[in-house]
Amino acid sequence: MRLVLVGPPGAGKGTQAERMAERLDVPHISTGDLFRANLKQETELGLEAKRYMDAGNLVPDEVTVGMVRDRLGDADTEKGFILDGFPRTTAQADSLGGILKDKGLELDAVVQFEVDDEVVVQRLLGRGRSDDNEDTIRNRQQVYRDETAPLLQYYADRLVTVDAVGEVEEITERVFTALGKG
Ligand code: ADP
Repeated sequence: MRLVLVGPPGAGKGTQAERMAERLDVPHISTGDLFRANLKQETELGLEAKRYMDAGNLVPDEVTVGMVRDRLGDADTEKGFILDGFPRTTAQADSLGGILKDKGLELDAVVQFEVDDEVVVQRLLGRGRSDDNEDTIRNRQQVYRDETAPLLQYYADRLVTVDAVGEVEEITERVFTALGKG
């Protein structure tokens, strides 16, 4: 399956993406993880991304889209993939559409993780990543509302919504049920 996960920061997309990837036997592609891996290796792309990530802003599309295009060129994505954190804007969604169209492919579904802002602030503050301080989190939530939430309309024809509050295992089951694979 080719899936995109959408949800506010702290909705648990990464956790669910790991579990879904294992069950579906497809790679989990997280743009946040790719940026953090680049940063750890001190690549030019990583250092460029850091400035934006630290402030909770989006990394520019020139950087992000190229990175995703490269990753989707890897052979392991031929059996499908779970995209986590990309696209995050309708412009990125257009780019993704173009990348897939060139391969004659389409997304099967877009899974929306629904969760309340206050629940996620508490979760994120507990996680302790360097970009998980309250100001950055609030900014990321604002960016989500302004830039990412329009994707829910964009993908209305393939949107599957899941209540993302509950136990990890329970939420995974909700996802597969919503995808008709329960
Ligand atoms: P979260 O969903 O908790 O905000 P992520 O690990 O998905 O965490 O992303 C962390 C940061 O990486 C974002 O705040 C942003 O700066 C950058 N980033 C991730 N994905 C994208 C993307 N698709 N476009 C632009 N920036 C991105």
